[in-house]
Amino acid sequence: MGKDCLFCKIVNREIPAEIVYEDEKVLGFEDINPQAPVHCVFVPKEHIATLNGINTENSALAGELVRASVEVAEKKGLSERGYRVTINCNSDAGQEVFHIHLHLLGGRKFNWPPG
Ligand code: AMP
Ligand code: ZN
Repeated sequence: MGKDCLFCKIVNREIPAEIVYEDEKVLGFEDINPQAPVHCVFVPKEHIATLNGINTENSALAGELVRASVEVAEKKGLSERGYRVTINCNSDAGQEVFHIHLHLLGGRKFNWPPG
């Protein structure tokens, strides 16, 4: 686990979160500062700081994050109207928590390009 990593602490139940999804490798929970009517984040239980840490050994995890978000999007009734999934990597993308996480955003219209 990453020392002092916020999302590792959520995975280890040291910090509370409203959990929306869990399996052996992935945890999904409500974002504490939602940017849309639906805003959840999905993290691998294994600590990987940024998307740059994805390689041939662990890349299946990226698919697991996507699959989990698709499942929750379906449960939250977003499948037909649509939703957005995003992974921010490092400073140009505005990454603030350095444990890979996929954002699931839905329930409103989003702009493209994202700005
Ligand atoms: P990013 O900017 O991609 O690193 O996103 C970090 C996300 O984590 C932001 O959307 C925050 O609102 C969210 N966040 C920060 N702390 C918590 C927390 N304790 N529980 C849930 N979400 C959090
Ligand atoms: Zn971590």
